[in-house]
Amino acid sequence: MSESIAIPTELSDATSLALADLSRGSAVKARVTFDPAPEGPIAWRVTATFPDGTGIGFEVKLEDFCHLAVAVADGLQTAFIEQTGIAVPACPGHNHPMRARCLPGEGPAWTCPTAGGSLYAIGAYSADRNQPS
Ligand SMILES: [Zn+2]
Repeated sequence: MSESIAIPTELSDATSLALADLSRGSAVKARVTFDPAPEGPIAWRVTATFPDGTGIGFEVKLEDFCHLAVAVADGLQTAFIEQTGIAVPACPGHNHPMRARCLPGEGPAWTCPTAGGSLYAIGAYSADRNQPS
């Protein structure tokens, strides 16, 4: 057991938002854990562990919430795509995954990597639009 350091609220909030979108998009659940990174107090290692036991980790730095939310969403998205092999969260009408970006005046958003522009706020993705009716 390592000594417990409180997980920053903004880090767990950013993770909840991104995880909701990725779970909706792929029907895969991951358990996410946090460890302080050796670089110092503002760096954290985020690890997504999937039901088969695979763990995929990345590091983020605590900064303004918008950029932190994008860094967490981007890292978790990479982990989900690596694990599932599917484009999550999928861009409506396209076969590619959306890209997380911090948009001035809008906040953390999923955008289309080719057309640009925000499609969903991070945490508000709905896979319904992609379902054939
Ligand atoms: Zn697109």
